[in-house]
Amino acid sequence: MASIESIAVIGAGTMGHGIAQVAAASGFRVLLSDVDRDALARGVQSIEKNLAKGISLGKLTEDDRDRTLQHIRGTTNLDDCAAADLIIEAAPEKLELKQDILRQLESQTDRAFIFASNTSSLSITEIARSAKRPEAVVGMHFFNPVHIMRLVEIVVGGKTSAETVETVQSVGKQMRKEPIVVKDVPGFASSRLGVALGLEAMRMLEQGVASARDIDTAMELGYNHPMGPLKLTDLVGLDVRLSIAEYLHRELGSETFRPPEVLRRLVSEGKLGKKTGEGFYDWNKEKEDSRRAQSS
Ligand code: NAD
Repeated sequence: MASIESIAVIGAGTMGHGIAQVAAASGFRVLLSDVDRDALARGVQSIEKNLAKGISLGKLTEDDRDRTLQHIRGTTNLDDCAAADLIIEAAPEKLELKQDILRQLESQTDRAFIFASNTSSLSITEIARSAKRPEAVVGMHFFNPVHIMRLVEIVVGGKTSAETVETVQSVGKQMRKEPIVVKDVPGFASSRLGVALGLEAMRMLEQGVASARDIDTAMELGYNHPMGPLKLTDLVGLDVRLSIAEYLHRELGSETFRPPEVLRRLVSEGKLGKKTGEGFYDWNKEKEDSRRAQSS
């Protein structure tokens, strides 16, 4: 099993900042990278906010926060990431982009790093298609928010070696996650079911079956889901969900995954969910309501 001391995380967005936080809190040296300087700064701010919340809830000490932050450096230069033992890629859900990132990193060094993609649905075998070392390419699919959700899906590509799988399973456990090992099939074990539920909820909303909140409440109170499918889509990002639905629709050839009109419309209006302030919910109003409820 390869020894992992340093981890580079590519993309400081919704997932990347969370992965960087959890890796740093577990003692790894972390390099967080993003092409966009503002996105990198926002990623670091989100980590600081998560840690401050952890302290206010009594789950973390100030020492924990300082130790975690000391382990994280930021960069806007992708090439710097090639020096890490493990590279976790959390860039947007585009096959060509992920392949390009891997190609660029491999051109920087002959060191044997492991490349783990956090893709929600793309094929690991395809991402590794033109890799120099496809045996070191694997999926490490974390869940949102990363510092809270305990699952990590380890996705085994057509050429991924047993040693790579063993190494990332061990890293996942060191991050206090529960790794499951799944075959490289569209949607893996989790996204296929989760996305099907989310898309059906959107079709029900279009048909006027119930409001977004009531559809979510049905799943939360009737089925004990911790969060309804539409609220979850707002947290994941509607653009991310749309890309996954398009991909699964194409790959599985099933109408279950045809993206509903409401999803396309909201994405084209820039309503991408919590990260833009609006999606199926108006998040500024949600914040205001919860502030009012707390102060009354
Ligand atoms: P996001 O849009 O929030 O963040 C992506 C970040 O990558 C952005 O900050 C962007 O500036 C940056 N980026 C773009 N091109 C880059 C490049 N060439 N090099 C470095 N950084 C680059 O996206 P996200 O929601 O964090 O999703 C990232 C990946 O994680 C996707 O593959 C997605 O499918 C997967 N995923 C998302 C979720 C979720 O809940 N959002 C859950 C599991 C997996």
